[in-house]
Amino acid sequence: MKRIAFLLAATVTLISTSFSQSPEITVNELKTHVQYLASDELEGRGSGTEGNRKAAEYLQQQFASYGLKPAGKDGSFLQEFEFVSAVKLGSKNALSISPAQGAKRQYVVDRDFRPLGFSSNAAVTGSVVFAGYGISAPEKEYDDYKDIDVTGKIVVALRYGPDGNDIHSELYRFTSFRNKARYAREKGAAALIIVDQLSEDPVKLSYDQSHSTSGIPCMSVKKSVLEELLTPFKKDLGGIQESIKANRQPVAFDIPGVMISLETEVIQVMSRTANVLGYVEGTTHKDEVVVIGAHFDHLGYGGESSGSLQPDAIAIHNGADDNASGTAALLEIAQKFAASRNSLTRTVLFIGFSGEELGTLGSQYYTNNPYFALNQTVAMLNMDMIGRMKENTLTVHGVGTSPVWNDIVKKWNTAPDTMSIRTVADGFGPSDHASFYTKDIPVLFFFTGTHNDYHKPSDDWDKINYEDKQRIARYVYNIANDVQSMTPRPQFTKSQPTASAMGGGDGRGFSVTLGVVPDYAADVKGMKIDGTRAGGPGEKAGLQAGDIITMLGGKKILNIYDYMGILGELKVGQVVEIEIMRDGKPMTVSATMTKR
Ligand SMILES: [Zn+2]
Repeated sequence: MKRIAFLLAATVTLISTSFSQSPEITVNELKTHVQYLASDELEGRGSGTEGNRKAAEYLQQQFASYGLKPAGKDGSFLQEFEFVSAVKLGSKNALSISPAQGAKRQYVVDRDFRPLGFSSNAAVTGSVVFAGYGISAPEKEYDDYKDIDVTGKIVVALRYGPDGNDIHSELYRFTSFRNKARYAREKGAAALIIVDQLSEDPVKLSYDQSHSTSGIPCMSVKKSVLEELLTPFKKDLGGIQESIKANRQPVAFDIPGVMISLETEVIQVMSRTANVLGYVEGTTHKDEVVVIGAHFDHLGYGGESSGSLQPDAIAIHNGADDNASGTAALLEIAQKFAASRNSLTRTVLFIGFSGEELGTLGSQYYTNNPYFALNQTVAMLNMDMIGRMKENTLTVHGVGTSPVWNDIVKKWNTAPDTMSIRTVADGFGPSDHASFYTKDIPVLFFFTGTHNDYHKPSDDWDKINYEDKQRIARYVYNIANDVQSMTPRPQFTKSQPTASAMGGGDGRGFSVTLGVVPDYAADVKGMKIDGTRAGGPGEKAGLQAGDIITMLGGKKILNIYDYMGILGELKVGQVVEIEIMRDGKPMTVSATMTKR
């Protein structure tokens, strides 16, 4: 009761003050929105959290106070969706070891061992092989598996690599848990046990944003469990590590007479969050829609696997630039359109997206469950990080997605707001416009560039330049206003890929590319693709949005991490077979890998 009363009071206050609000895009209102959205009260707006819900409520109240019509579910402004927010341990986790001599030992979950977050759930018993660091990198002339047969056995391997956890090591990219799980699976192992040689605790449980598990049970154990195993054989862990480091040669061997029984159970925890949608109806062409969007979610308290660039700091990531800045502009633009509601030709739909930081989940959910038909959606304009303009430069992505964009972005760059506009043709990119571009909708994406506070707790409201942001919001408004009335509607074209300021798409950091865009939200065995880049190897091979890649170059793909790992092993010019599932049927195509 109390809470409902509070909500009602809050709504009434906002509506009663709305008359004193200016319909124009003002510095003060932009600042008010950012200060609230990026305040500690909203706790970083992590999808599925109370702070995120408060942000959605704020958007909803603002939309209502401007007189927008709701475009969510059942007459509301909210479009709810479910997503995996975390993993937790089930009740069935077990580990016991029968040593060569002596009694069987039973270990305790959470104290002695813990499954890895992406582990498959299964019970396995088998003999044991020690496989050094569990790395298979023949191209770097280092392969822990080269002299051992692990078929049907349980592989025990150390964490990190021969150079420790050194990010500059040439073996660094082979040391991830996901890659080690893939090597063990590819070699036929029944399970993988990782030993953290630097810690007396098993590895923390974390969710790495992919539904799909590793295909075999994977767990970590504390160091003493392995030491107990090795002692009867007069092998010591320190000596093994030194030998590998000094000789650059693996140390791997069977551990005879030992049997391990293990069982893993990791449960995915579902959460709910919501996009916020409101619109101003057009007059003569009201069935045609221009979408303006900005994501309002951020990283919450950060932490491992959250996307934080300071993952050790469990602190509120306020996300003022990312993306309270775009959200505030969305509100101000919506308010200005609402004030001229009777003069619009087309309908203008405003969407605050959630789940963006988890892989554009909200915009993918919307484009799969649209309120207005997608073939009547004439364009999508996205703002993500527009609060930290440098050298008077605004970057506009997506100008290659319609022939009209080049002229339009120049036309509205006028005094006194004139900026230096840097254009990028590509319609893909790591934000919500990409979800619309893959549905053949012309897009523009406005972005002032990354900075030192990006994805850190220090991305705060007082570092935003509100005068610059006002100029950008006015510019986006003018473009949107042009698009809502122009005839004919903007034609869609596939853009040529361009190196973008934010990077993005697939294969970041790899030398080769297949030119496909992963669908992060898909819950499938394999990697579902959301689109192909014009002229890229994937498109030339005939790959299409919706295809699920199950094999690449003769290696099985169960999840996006397998895909990224295998991509890293391919060479420019290499021709690879790709097995896919299309509409439930298997198909094989071949592609020539190109340079990224
Ligand atoms: Zn972000």
